Amino acid sequence: MDSGAAGTLQDVVIVGAGVVGCAIAHELSRTGLRVALVERATEVGFGTSKANSGIIHGGHHASPDTLKGRLEWAGNQLWDGLCAELGFGFARVGELTVALAEDDEPALERLVRQAEEKGVPGVERWTREQVLAAEPALNPALVGAVHAPTTGVINPYEACFGLAESAVAGGVTLWTDCPVLALRPMRGPDDGWEVITPSATIATRAVVNAAGVAAGDIARMAGIEGVQLRPRKGEEYLLDKRLAGLVHRVIYPCPSPTSKGTLVIPTYDGTIMIGPTADLVDDPDDLTTSVSGADRILAAARRLVPGISERDVIAQFAGMRAVLDDEDFLIGPTEAPGFFNVAGIQSPGLTAAPAIARYVAALLGAAGFDTERVSAAQRVAPPVRFAHLDDAAQQALAADEPAHRRILCRCEMVTEGAVREAIARGAHTLDGLKFRTRAGMGRCQGGFCTDRCMAVLAAALDLPLTSVTKRGGDSWLVLDRSEPSS
Ligand SMILES: Cc1cc2nc3c(=O)[nH]c(=O)nc-3n(C[C@H](O)[C@H](O)[C@H](O)COP(=O)(O)OP(=O)(O)OC[C@H]3O[C@@H](n4cnc5c(N)ncnc54)[C@H](O)[C@@H]3O)c2cc1C
Repeated sequence: MDSGAAGTLQDVVIVGAGVVGCAIAHELSRTGLRVALVERATEVGFGTSKANSGIIHGGHHASPDTLKGRLEWAGNQLWDGLCAELGFGFARVGELTVALAEDDEPALERLVRQAEEKGVPGVERWTREQVLAAEPALNPALVGAVHAPTTGVINPYEACFGLAESAVAGGVTLWTDCPVLALRPMRGPDDGWEVITPSATIATRAVVNAAGVAAGDIARMAGIEGVQLRPRKGEEYLLDKRLAGLVHRVIYPCPSPTSKGTLVIPTYDGTIMIGPTADLVDDPDDLTTSVSGADRILAAARRLVPGISERDVIAQFAGMRAVLDDEDFLIGPTEAPGFFNVAGIQSPGLTAAPAIARYVAALLGAAGFDTERVSAAQRVAPPVRFAHLDDAAQQALAADEPAHRRILCRCEMVTEGAVREAIARGAHTLDGLKFRTRAGMGRCQGGFCTDRCMAVLAAALDLPLTSVTKRGGDSWLVLDRSEPSS
């Protein structure tokens, strides 16, 4: 997806291609503006946006008195249209917030009240009997729940890829492997910025800072000191597909003031995920998981769904929330002309992303940029999902295209054809393939398919195996130990 246009004056440079930056790029691609999206990672969505619970929140969790509360419900409603345009995995499965004790009653009442205030439809109290009839695997000691039909589950990385692909098809320039190192004001105070990266200096009228947990650093590059983000880590644990159908809705405990607690999540792809933790840490790059995190998550998940076992954990990962002191989003122009912050985008940032994008477009419009929509969003073909096809469709595809006759990932039924398509669409790392196709996400966690995927990747990109990386940078998987020839 990369292309270069560094010499051209941009109207807007977006720093950070997480779901928020990709959604803003997608929104602006429909205007006549010249837009560039600049990402330090090797592929889009490789920051927090690939490492979250993948829930489109029902819309009633965050208070309507907060910006994130307003954008949560607005964002929720935009995902159906985006999914139809871009074909990523999204299903409105609904959620239950479960009370395990009478003391939880006020929290349930607050959720119903917030839903009424925000106009979120269908949110209602369910009795213990109703809950257990719908979700028999839940703890029979529960006392009641709030049901919200508006909650969905999504493939967050697929959403990033779809948004970015569509944005690029609509004229946005995307630079990956391109960390912003500094920002320099151009001549006068209203003349814009030079965005300095190792490969190019990009001149632009405006900078949108969507750098996630690094948004404070980018703000400081523009001379803005007030954006103090604290990284709050969340560990997630993925359970084997053997448990598919254990729960049908997203299951929440009653929330605390800073956390929605440990959830049991039926992911779009049929696995169950449990998590996340919520621990303030010093290092925003510390994405380790821990024994203590696993213990806490398993204990909390078992309180909701007693049948969950640690033996079913097939993978774990961590993501980093970008938290401001007031726990709200900070989106708007700054005292530095032409510099806009989109900071503090912690949960529900995934849910809110499309609404954040529209909000940012409106702010740019108010600042004099012509953000009128002049074209429809570019549709992109959904990726091939061989495992989702019925037998006849699989046979037809394999008959037409020999690459679909070879299964590279047995757990997730990913064909060589699907892997080749993902490479053609921009995957150039093993994780890029994994997030686009699910190769390596199953029970064996890549034991069968890693070398097969690497071989296809190396051949397609004309690279030696020693240059193939897991996620870019120096994350090589194969080392060349041969003696240098004399
Ligand atoms: C464990 C966990 C669970 C969550 N669950 C949910 C959920 O279920 N639903 C929900 O709505 N939200 C959820 N969230 C929140 C959601 O994931 C985030 O709000 C969202 O992903 C933030 O997106 P972003 O684009 O702002 O950040 P990111 O995805 O982190 O993107 C920022 C990008 O900026 C790039 N960048 C940084 N510095 C530079 C630089 N100098 N130059 C260029 N690029 C740079 C980074 O590489 C990164 O790709 C969860 C978060 C966590 C951690």
